[in-house]
Amino acid sequence: MISDSHLRLGIPSKGRLSDLATDLLTQAGLKFRRQNRGLFARVSGMNIDLVYLRTDDIPTLCAEGAIDMGITGSDLVEEAGADVQGRMKFGVGRCRLAFCIPDDSPITSAAELDGKRIATSFPNVTREYLAKCGATAHLVSLAGSVEAMIQLGVADAIVDLVETGSTLAANRLRILEEIGHYETVLIQNSKPRLNEIADRLVQRLEGVVIARDYSLVEYNIPRSKISEAEKITPGFNSPTINSLEDADWCSVQVMVRRADVVDAMDQLKAIGASAVFEMTLNNCRL
Ligand code: AMP
Repeated sequence: MISDSHLRLGIPSKGRLSDLATDLLTQAGLKFRRQNRGLFARVSGMNIDLVYLRTDDIPTLCAEGAIDMGITGSDLVEEAGADVQGRMKFGVGRCRLAFCIPDDSPITSAAELDGKRIATSFPNVTREYLAKCGATAHLVSLAGSVEAMIQLGVADAIVDLVETGSTLAANRLRILEEIGHYETVLIQNSKPRLNEIADRLVQRLEGVVIARDYSLVEYNIPRSKISEAEKITPGFNSPTINSLEDADWCSVQVMVRRADVVDAMDQLKAIGASAVFEMTLNNCRL
């Protein structure tokens, strides 16, 4: 089924990234159907085969050339020490990897963990970080449930991913020191193959990611206020300004980060804008 003329894209077969990767690819216009939880799915009309893999195997399999590209977490790329290129950040799955200790622990820095026991799913990243602090620890390497290990008496501290911090709070733990920030990424083998297909895939995914991040805002504004309005909504490149029948007014179309839209609308209204609309973008090519 697998073909050398098809780009192989590894995507998570289960877990928190699986649905996210499937949604991104579908929104980017890729048509595919995974049958009976199989390993492969062919994308119709594009020379791409999807390969369903464990999220944590994707960095190594991409470095080894078993897949050309993959969707995974940048934390897993770092832990695997995989020699791959980062092609895209998706702006989702954001988390921090951190040393965590009991709320009431007197420890004040990672360097003080020298000689202690640390439970983690990230032994390589942890070891390297501790080495930079001049410390060595006994690492208890686990696949999951790391947050329970202090209570179980296996570890004095843990190194785990933190997103909202609610898992830490539930286990009466606090962050001692952050190792790094990570998110969901698209990676590529360091000796890329089938560049044209890879670039087309990246362009399609970028269209979706930008559209998820931005809205299109349209408003009418007196010409005399354009420079003030541009300060509020500078746009991705620059705003589109069209004339209106009333020569003293114009209409502006501009991309605004979704998180900033409501604030921008208030500010536009305050300087005299009217008919201010937010429109959802589904996809784009800039
Ligand atoms: P939270 O309670 O939101 O801080 O989430 C922490 C739990 O979710 C930990 O057990 C982490 O292992 C896991 N987690 C958080 N963010 C991610 C991520 N981006 N990728 C994988 N696991 C994560």
